[in-house]
Amino acid sequence: MSVRPTIRRNKIPDHRHCPICGLPMAVNADFCSEGCKKTNDEKVRRERRARNLSLILYIAVMVTLFIFLFVPLLLPR
Ligand SMILES: [Zn+2]
Repeated sequence: MSVRPTIRRNKIPDHRHCPICGLPMAVNADFCSEGCKKTNDEKVRRERRARNLSLILYIAVMVTLFIFLFVPLLLPR
């Protein structure tokens, strides 16, 4: 005769996991602690800065290409 482990899946209360550290937390919370909230804020700020920087680089490359390709055509020979 074998002893089967009891299935306890249905006994875990509703919860979410912190997106920063992965710890379980309340369903209506965004983060488990102030520290994780700050970490996330910094991450969002870093990502936004990186996005802005790549947009600026993209525009700079496009303007440079435009200058090198089209301005010589407009100059008098
Ligand atoms: Zn956390």
